[in-house]
Amino acid sequence: MIRIPALLPEEHVYSCFVRGRFLSAQMHLSDKEFFSMNQLPYHWLRSQVPLCGNMNAVLELMSVSLEQQFKLRLLHTPFAPWLLSLPNDLKPSDLTESNVRNNMEESPFNVDKRWKFCPHCLAEDRTTFGVSYWRSFHQLPGVLICEKHKVALHSHAELRYLAFKLPHHFLNGSEELVVDADWQHRWQPFIYRLSRHLQANPEWGRDVSNYIKRQLQIEGVIKSTHRPLFNNLFKSMREDVGMACLAGLFTRFARNNGRMPNILWLTLSGRSQNKGIRHPLYWLAILFWLRDELPELRFLREDR
Ligand SMILES: [Zn+2]
Repeated sequence: MIRIPALLPEEHVYSCFVRGRFLSAQMHLSDKEFFSMNQLPYHWLRSQVPLCGNMNAVLELMSVSLEQQFKLRLLHTPFAPWLLSLPNDLKPSDLTESNVRNNMEESPFNVDKRWKFCPHCLAEDRTTFGVSYWRSFHQLPGVLICEKHKVALHSHAELRYLAFKLPHHFLNGSEELVVDADWQHRWQPFIYRLSRHLQANPEWGRDVSNYIKRQLQIEGVIKSTHRPLFNNLFKSMREDVGMACLAGLFTRFARNNGRMPNILWLTLSGRSQNKGIRHPLYWLAILFWLRDELPELRFLREDR
């Protein structure tokens, strides 16, 4: 069986899994043989899908305790924003499945889903730990700049999936991500700070819809008669955050074919055909819009 090494600071679970395969001398196997030998479902390693059966199988391999698996997911995958979608009847540690089909989960979202790394972190990690590794915070949706070094992250065309390679493999020939839109710069501190807040307070996401409704003066249970109100509110949201931002987050805005969903209605009304857990980008887009107004987001505005 594969021997999984200890996780390094903020290391993504799949990065540790990749290192485990190296350390267990299982690189000579084909990928299919490798998964089969370790009794895991064969799958592509994707950077931004922390809630799926494949991730769960790897977490089970790393720890038998459910509480420990939750901690690994919380601290070592880009899971924290998913806590914005925590259903009322679930404990944070019970949120283990999004119930969206694996291959469908990412298609509505237009953020760069490739694996990313910071060349400065890479150099430091090699000095400190003797290895380069993939950091979970660099895989958060819309993250393009390293929080610590304030430089653009790098990626590579091959990095849509992680083919059992560590970042140093891509050091020559990687591309620096382009960060040219205003909203992208404003998104960076927002997504990092909000994710850290959720990591430290996993229950915080439960009340987010109430904070938003109070701020938007939406009272009572949302009914179809609220639709005109939502249309007006979403018009304001579109004007405030800008179409470049919505197109950068959601595929249907990027396509520009007139079929643009009302993000506020979809997210707050609970009236959609989507049976799974709401993807965090919906909540994130709304909170990004209201980030300067909501008192509960004061922590985003504090200087650190
Ligand atoms: Zn860095």
